[in-house]
Amino acid sequence: MPLAYIDVVLPLALPPLTFSVDGERVPVPGMQVVVRLGRRKLYAGIVWQVRDSRPDLRTIRSVESVEGDAPVVPDYQLRLWAWIADYYMCTVGEVMKAAVPARLKPGGFTREELDAAAYAPRVVPCYALDPAIGSEQRLHEAFESLRRAPRQHAALIDFVERAGADALFRTAVPRPALKADATILRALTDKHILACYLDGSLPDSLTLAGSLALSGPDAPAVPLPDLSAAQRQALAEVDEAFREKDAVLLHGVTGSGKTELYITLIARALAEGRDVLYLLPEIALTAQLIDRLRRYFGARTLVYHSRFTDTRRAACYEEVRRGAPGRLVVGARSALFLPFRQLGLVIVDEEHEGSFKQAEPPPRYHARDCALVLARLCGAPALLGSATPSLESYSNALAGKYGLVELTERYGGAVLPRVVVADTLRAARRGERVSHFTRALLDRLDATLGAGRQAILFQNRRGFSPFVECGTCGWTAGCPHCNVTLTYHKAERSLRCHYCGYTMPVPALCPSCGRDDLQPRGFGTEKIEEELSGLFPSARIARLDSDTSRGVGSFERIVADFGAGRTDILVGTQMVTKGFDFGRVSLVGILNADNLLNYPDFRAVERAFQLMMQVAGRAGRRAEPGEVVIQTAQPGHPAIAHIRAGDYGAMARAQLAERRAFLYPPYYRLVGLTCRHRDKALLWRAAAELARLARPVFGRRLLGPDAPPVDRVRGEYIVTFLLKIEREQSLAEARRLLAAMIAQVNALPDFRYVSILPDVDPQ
Ligand code: ADP
Ligand code: ZN
Ligand code: ZN
Repeated sequence: MPLAYIDVVLPLALPPLTFSVDGERVPVPGMQVVVRLGRRKLYAGIVWQVRDSRPDLRTIRSVESVEGDAPVVPDYQLRLWAWIADYYMCTVGEVMKAAVPARLKPGGFTREELDAAAYAPRVVPCYALDPAIGSEQRLHEAFESLRRAPRQHAALIDFVERAGADALFRTAVPRPALKADATILRALTDKHILACYLDGSLPDSLTLAGSLALSGPDAPAVPLPDLSAAQRQALAEVDEAFREKDAVLLHGVTGSGKTELYITLIARALAEGRDVLYLLPEIALTAQLIDRLRRYFGARTLVYHSRFTDTRRAACYEEVRRGAPGRLVVGARSALFLPFRQLGLVIVDEEHEGSFKQAEPPPRYHARDCALVLARLCGAPALLGSATPSLESYSNALAGKYGLVELTERYGGAVLPRVVVADTLRAARRGERVSHFTRALLDRLDATLGAGRQAILFQNRRGFSPFVECGTCGWTAGCPHCNVTLTYHKAERSLRCHYCGYTMPVPALCPSCGRDDLQPRGFGTEKIEEELSGLFPSARIARLDSDTSRGVGSFERIVADFGAGRTDILVGTQMVTKGFDFGRVSLVGILNADNLLNYPDFRAVERAFQLMMQVAGRAGRRAEPGEVVIQTAQPGHPAIAHIRAGDYGAMARAQLAERRAFLYPPYYRLVGLTCRHRDKALLWRAAAELARLARPVFGRRLLGPDAPPVDRVRGEYIVTFLLKIEREQSLAEARRLLAAMIAQVNALPDFRYVSILPDVDPQ
């Protein structure tokens, strides 16, 4: 029997490896095969390509088995993987690791383990109370409304019994556990009393009674939003632009109704039986937005994100691959790797967000840029949306590479909030400052609470204070594994490293001089929360940051409480800046704009502007105008003036001019290099070797080696380089040369274990 040869991608940092297969059953690219590496370890790999002839290798193992008879990974995804591996300088195996749920790529298992891990879809629809029924009171009203529909009434009672009383609002019940027939359930979903979910789309806040994967019929759709005149105009411009361009940048101020535009475009694509990918940064993926989308698209909405269990991600992957096309997939980064049947539209919302870039591990890919490549591979239009576009996208739009559509007014006549700049130094001089609050902010908080309205306070730092310092000798606590000070968390009386998680109790006495004089310095969200409760004893205050939102469902609970008016003031980090749409927020306070403006990075001003505009955009989203108070010691900073004027264009022009002058993106392309090793001297020698090889080739385009501000993390020292490449030069050529130099350094016995990771387009 003749043998055939295939290259197989494995979820390892390796290029594809060659195996032989029975010539009668040659798998096609994208199919899953099981191969053996070493003596016992089995891996599920993906067929990369079929070779024409036997490659010139001494031994070629045969695959253990070919799984199934259809590709698990579609052809265009394999091409995307190849593009990512090439562009971001990593192996295809690393891309595979990021791209498919672990269930579909078991690695290093024995046969038995592999079989046990194999994905077995169980298709069962599942019901929960509709998000509209959010309280006992509403449920009671729902029962009342069913007085004349005894069978529906009985079905609702049955549901309540199955779901159990204590977690009634947080439980979904699989279809087979319910007595009612399909028409009755359909009637209840039509009335927005029950909601039907597909697996992979079950909201995080719901747990399943029993634990079945699920799937279901299309939930009823409510009529699409009526667009305002400005929105209709923008929609027409988007359509017009797509006639000529593959990508369009939608620049719409906060509250202009970008989401309603997306909804209209999504509905159109779904009606044509096409899939839609809606990418969002992780923190913007809120229950609020998902509920909003689900109201229109019901069970066709699938949510995919990294906080889901792997089983759920695998179920979602299979649902997209094998279910009916015409899905809306809402997800963060990795959703772009799903095996869409017929991709009809890609939306990247909040496209300016740096968190679309995966920092680590490789592939260090930018999901927005990969989504654009994906869209092109599938012939689908791509819409990038933001109130504050990235300068990269904006300059692409100005250059005519993307279409540009602007929405300059808020929906429903709501006006953009008025910006008040509070000068913290001046306030301090005049005695108009109480701890971290200026009089200007306190007065407005008072008025807001008095009017029964809500406020959001933003502080870019969690914990109680950045560090503790000895008032006598100046000692500060540092992390033993990283070169940073530990953050003081008061409630836990602990000092914690925000880089590696190291935690220690606060020492009673200064370990250096022995005095009892340790004092908190600076301030974080926890401290703000505490001081506020002192200043406003009767206000209900909540805090939203990665400390308070760690537990299952706690993020959703904090947000839901605020949305329902059960809290008055929400204090938080970045988490409060994204996508919240609450009508009663009329005041937003930015407590310390200086630590945003002074961040040592060429994007600092762009980011500060984006962040402040986003958080400001939470205020006054309905009829009543809102106010934003920005506390800063630099009221004359140009970025503050741009924010005060709400003038994105002015900020962009000023920043673009600076970027051009100082050779930064979008005019230059950057490749960062991170070198790491436990032994500092050895690391610097390796870096010197790399510099010796690279300098003659790249000359002054290469900056470094440098020690970054935090030059030790998790016990490893860090040295960085930065390569700046003119747009006219070939980035591909530079990447190739660089990869060869890295390989050359790692080939030296001393430097074998020095990790040298490239970061193309660092954020
Ligand atoms: P953006 O995403 O641009 O910040 P949103 O889409 O969240 O804006 O819209 C802001 C608010 O205005 C939301 O509460 C939204 O429901 C409402 N809204 C916007 N457009 C419409 C419309 N055409 N019909 C009804 N409500 C709308
Ligand atoms: Zn001391
Ligand atoms: Zn640490």
